[in-house]
Amino acid sequence: MTDLQDLRVRRDELAANLAKVEERITAACAAAGRKRADVTLIVVTKTYPASDVRILSDLGVRHVAENRDQDAAPKAAQSTDLPLTWHFVGQLQTNKVRSVVSYADLVQSVDRAKLVTALSKEAVRAERELGCLIQVALDAEENGRGERGGVGVGGVEELAARVAEAPGLRLDGLMTVAPLTGAYAGRQQAAFERLMDLSTHLRVAHPAANMVSAGMSSDLEQAVAAGATHVRVGTAVLGVRPRLG
Ligand SMILES: *Cc1c(COP(=O)(O)O)cnc(C)c1O
Repeated sequence: MTDLQDLRVRRDELAANLAKVEERITAACAAAGRKRADVTLIVVTKTYPASDVRILSDLGVRHVAENRDQDAAPKAAQSTDLPLTWHFVGQLQTNKVRSVVSYADLVQSVDRAKLVTALSKEAVRAERELGCLIQVALDAEENGRGERGGVGVGGVEELAARVAEAPGLRLDGLMTVAPLTGAYAGRQQAAFERLMDLSTHLRVAHPAANMVSAGMSSDLEQAVAAGATHVRVGTAVLGVRPRLG
């Protein structure tokens, strides 16, 4: 096959997958009595090439997410002409912050004070306003930290206040990944409902921080049912990832 034929085949595949995900979101919204427009699809393009990002953009996707700076930075650099909002959703080391801030519009994985300080410093330096979501670890101790990142429930308020006060940063809301262990293991909807409760509480002090990012390929219905405003879908759009990511 020529490259052009490859691209057409891939485009058809991604279009078909997107249509199925769109149907799932629409059905979940209907079941929950919510408007489709109240849920934003973020396609997680990690491990997939910039050519896929370009196809997705052409198919109408407006939000993409990545979880590793090494993969994301070159992909974003090849996509600067596309009308995309870039979300960073991975565990973030402070030495990668400068790079991430250069292309990310939002960081969904803010989970410690040191990271807030670093993000603020680089956002100010880059003269950018960076949207931030506090990543909540529902499998962590109340005042602990999650194994896959995230802050325990007890640390959310203080971290949110730090973000809200930090120059260059905008507090946009909360994010979680359904826990594999602990009290919420296998209970995605209960986990997402807990995140919603935390969001309701957060919005008393920070009314504009109304993003609730929850739900992936396997549990987007439960997230929509619980009230998520953003779902992060990788596998169901792009296919099973060739390697862990
Ligand atoms: C990979 C990833 C997703 C998407 O997961 P799928 O199961 O492929 O849909 C969502 N959120 C985060 C934080 C991820 O790392």
